[in-house]
Amino acid sequence: MDIFQTPLTYLPGIGPKRATVLAEELDLYTYLDLLHYFPTKYVDRSRVYTIKDLRGEMPSIQLRGYIRDYKEIGEGRRKRLVAYFSDGTGTIELVWFRSLSTIQRLYPVGQTYLIFGKPVLFNGSYSINHPEVDEESREQAVSGGLMPIYPLTEKVKRIGIANRQMRQLLYILLEACRSQIRETLPEHIIQRAQLIPYSTAIQQIHFPEGNTELEATRRRLKFDELFFIQLRLLGMKNERKATSPGLPLPRVGEAFRGLYSSLPFDLTGAQKRVIREIQTDVVSGKQMNRLVQGDVGSGKTLVALFAMLLALDNGYQACMMAPTEILARQHFLSLTELLAPLGIEVGLLLGSTKKRERTKLHEGLGDGSLRIIVGTHALLEPVVQFHRLGLAVIDEQHRFGVVQRSGLWTKNESQHPHILIMSATPIPRTLAMTLYGDLDISVIDELPPGRKPIQTYHQPESHIFEVYAFLERQIAEGRQAYVVFPMIEENEREEIRALEEGLVRYRERFPEYTVVMVHGKMKPEKKDEEMRRFASGEAEIMLATTVIEVGVNVPNASVMVIEGANRFGLSQLHQLRGRVGRGASQSYCILLTGNELGEDAKRRIAIMVETNDGFEIAEEDMRLRGFGEIDGTRQSGQQLSLRIANPALDGAMVQYTRDLAEEILAEDSTLTLAKNEPLRQRLDALYHERPSWSQIS
Ligand code: ADP
Ligand code: MG
Repeated sequence: MDIFQTPLTYLPGIGPKRATVLAEELDLYTYLDLLHYFPTKYVDRSRVYTIKDLRGEMPSIQLRGYIRDYKEIGEGRRKRLVAYFSDGTGTIELVWFRSLSTIQRLYPVGQTYLIFGKPVLFNGSYSINHPEVDEESREQAVSGGLMPIYPLTEKVKRIGIANRQMRQLLYILLEACRSQIRETLPEHIIQRAQLIPYSTAIQQIHFPEGNTELEATRRRLKFDELFFIQLRLLGMKNERKATSPGLPLPRVGEAFRGLYSSLPFDLTGAQKRVIREIQTDVVSGKQMNRLVQGDVGSGKTLVALFAMLLALDNGYQACMMAPTEILARQHFLSLTELLAPLGIEVGLLLGSTKKRERTKLHEGLGDGSLRIIVGTHALLEPVVQFHRLGLAVIDEQHRFGVVQRSGLWTKNESQHPHILIMSATPIPRTLAMTLYGDLDISVIDELPPGRKPIQTYHQPESHIFEVYAFLERQIAEGRQAYVVFPMIEENEREEIRALEEGLVRYRERFPEYTVVMVHGKMKPEKKDEEMRRFASGEAEIMLATTVIEVGVNVPNASVMVIEGANRFGLSQLHQLRGRVGRGASQSYCILLTGNELGEDAKRRIAIMVETNDGFEIAEEDMRLRGFGEIDGTRQSGQQLSLRIANPALDGAMVQYTRDLAEEILAEDSTLTLAKNEPLRQRLDALYHERPSWSQIS
């Protein structure tokens, strides 16, 4: 058997119990998993601090000194052990809550130790909880002075696997299998990209010899992650192009022309360009798989509608699938409105659609009399059969994956419909290349004319009265305003209560105006009614939770007040802000927060105030949250589990690996040349599939 598939229980020190926790908490099952469990950062242990130099908030640091004395404090479960640790410049407390007697036995008073941990300031003096303690002589164990820090959960620590034990486990493991770590890349690529050997990289990522080595190591491992993703995505794309014939949609007919001439405005240059890209795709004889990206309000929906009408003009049906009912309803309303002058009916199919209505829709789709339908996942149910589905629009917001996308393909047995994906969250190009690398990508990088950039301000909650006064002036000028309240995690009731209190507050402050409220728990009819009152101008102020994030389009609304703005993520704030700035008048966004803000919240607010550019914001968001936190990347269906690369930050590497992958596939599209054999094997191991990409997605 492959040594790397050995279960972790074979490692000294890991019994069944620890193995279970490692599997459940960290997804670690085999030797291979552990080898690929990379540290998230390194602490420079060549630097030793002195106690008198400790100041303010400190990172994890190293001190050299001795334990003067031990004292056990407290009773029962709250009992703890305190060691008074001195280094000649001062004394701090080391605190343990577990294994009190073992600690005292292991680390006798008076000997010199190197201790490592994060000093916490309490009542003017520092202490370190559960520090790592090393005898001075064992200092050498950390090579190059760089100590890896592994991301561990509390549960893992509780079974006695802290950072130090992880290091020990990896040390033993590497001793056992280092010589068997195989190279993943063929020599010609290693040469080309000037990479260090894979086995060296795996050794160095856990036990770096120094900063230079670490840099080369990280580069090698990032290359591996990104390169194989690109190779796979491009392979899928090429294969699909080669084998999926597309339904030809050459005719530009009365539906398309009709919408074009009924629009009260001109399309932007970017919209026209993207529509042309789509037209080129659908006459190419190949199936279209295109992602349309654009900032909020850039007019993606309209572009998608033109594509749908091309399908209609050629005798096919089209559908639009949205991730939530609210969004589906919103699309339904806007399409209905746009298509009314053309006499084209639009259907709406939701999970909550009543049986009778549902049956009627099924019939209409089946016999082809219903040509356009909007819906949620309900569209994917097998009972939903189209007469001739020509194009599916997926409003994705990162929420559907390849699997669902493919669900739509089976709707037209003989040939796959064209697929157009709209991404409402702009994502940086290199991330798009990684998440959607198997698709063609169009970007609508222009907003409709006449939109004035929204002015964004940050105000402390203590200035709420000035904000009220500002609102009052705006409303007096005939404008309308949104006030958004934060979601309160896992406490919807609390959230609605805050909103209802807000309603009382705003109604008291604005007795002469109409204030309405919407939230996610309302009956749909009630919600629609409240939205309608706002959209018609009958209500001047609308209070809402984030339900308005997607949807409503009221050009006369020019003020967006976000209460508790620090509780929102950057992309969410940007989406919310996108609800205003749709009309001709100057729009404003006011971010209200308490006085005390965490570093990240401060940064988010500052970025919002600084820029209106959705792409810039998305990039910054990724920087702040890290790649793993990006909405839905887990469900993206691309099996993207990146351990070390961040496509937003490692943009140059993404581009480099993509170019290289393209070049290799251009020469050897099925990776059958002998020199590419290792690539084929690696793809197989990574994705458990032969590099015949046909069955994927
Ligand atoms: P997105 O889906 O990208 O957020 P929408 O397609 O919903 O944007 O468009 C936002 C608003 O802008 C809608 O009211 C739409 O009718 C309007 N709109 C779209 N394209 C244009 C344009 N070229 N000129 C003026 N208004 C436009
Ligand atoms: Mg939209």
